[in-house]
Amino acid sequence: RQPVDSPLYPLLAAAADYYRQALKSHPTRKSAVEYLKGRGLSGVIARDFGLGFAPPGWDNLMKHLGGDALQQKALIDAGLLIENAENGKRYDRFRDRVMFPIRDSRGRVIAFGGRVLGDDKPKYLNSPETPVFHKGQELYGLYEARQANRDLDEIMVVEGYMDVIALAQQGLRNAVATLGTATSEEHLKRLFRIVPSVLFCFDGDAAGRKAAWRALEATLPNLQDGRRARFLFLPDGEDPDTLVRSEGTDAFRARIQQHSQPLADYFFQQLSDEADPRSLEGKAHLATLAAPLIEKIPGSNLRALMRQRLAEITGLNGEALQHMATAPAPNT
Ligand code: ATP
Ligand code: MN
Ligand code: MN
Ligand code: MN
Repeated sequence: RQPVDSPLYPLLAAAADYYRQALKSHPTRKSAVEYLKGRGLSGVIARDFGLGFAPPGWDNLMKHLGGDALQQKALIDAGLLIENAENGKRYDRFRDRVMFPIRDSRGRVIAFGGRVLGDDKPKYLNSPETPVFHKGQELYGLYEARQANRDLDEIMVVEGYMDVIALAQQGLRNAVATLGTATSEEHLKRLFRIVPSVLFCFDGDAAGRKAAWRALEATLPNLQDGRRARFLFLPDGEDPDTLVRSEGTDAFRARIQQHSQPLADYFFQQLSDEADPRSLEGKAHLATLAAPLIEKIPGSNLRALMRQRLAEITGLNGEALQHMATAPAPNT
């Protein structure tokens, strides 16, 4: 999936060092330090996650690592420099941003996310796809979560860098984030190799609710018996970062215990919102939506129980439902 060896690794490591050092000693570092403090982060967490600072200016990193043309070419391949297609001018991709190094499962830096210190756009800038970085497969914070926990029994999946870090700051060191992409089957496959339980906790907004359903769909084909997924929905306008900081760790833990919904509950609740099971037409529609999804579940016990539940909700018998799930859909 990722090359074992690549000249890009040492370059990315050197860039991470540079950004980290700049956060400690660059003359313009103050705004970044204040920003991180303002978001409630301590030096310890900044160190654990290797946070850094890309100072303002077009060529700080280039000057520091630039060297000859060959080296600059490699920096472009690593996504750290950008070359203007028209005039051939090269410049730093990340400028005046707080830097989040993205590490692979072995702890090697493979990419960066960078956040503006204020309200400029784009808020986050990520490394482009490179030979060592495939966005759709990586999970930010997974390396750090495994470092911090000898035995993980559950991993929490959130949307953003700052959610992962704020949760870690509050003692919840088991969160990972997809990198601005939807949760994929590939992500889940990786997570379930590490833990038997995954908790999704996305932002309390329309995008977050949509992300939750996408995550459910990606989870179904990975649900062997013995694995589970649950969903915690946050109040409108909150994300894990804002909520854990406002209510504190204990309340957040209690919220997880009391309010997270097992996948099967969320599944039937969501589909019942879409197709009202109080009418026969709604029952029919619900069965049409649910049956093919249930058949994606590899765990035969859970699959059987969900079929049974669907039968209870709709009044359709198991045989009819199974037929529906496997028969080709009629033209509509
Ligand atoms: P913050 O709390 O720092 O304002 P956030 O993590 O709450 O940020 P969201 O807008 O909820 O930000 O986005 C979640 C995640 O989606 C971000 O952490 C980032 O990985 C990704 N993302 C957001 N905006 C962009 C963007 N403009 N370009 C690329 N990725 C983005
Ligand atoms: Mn969001
Ligand atoms: Mn946020
Ligand atoms: Mn958010």
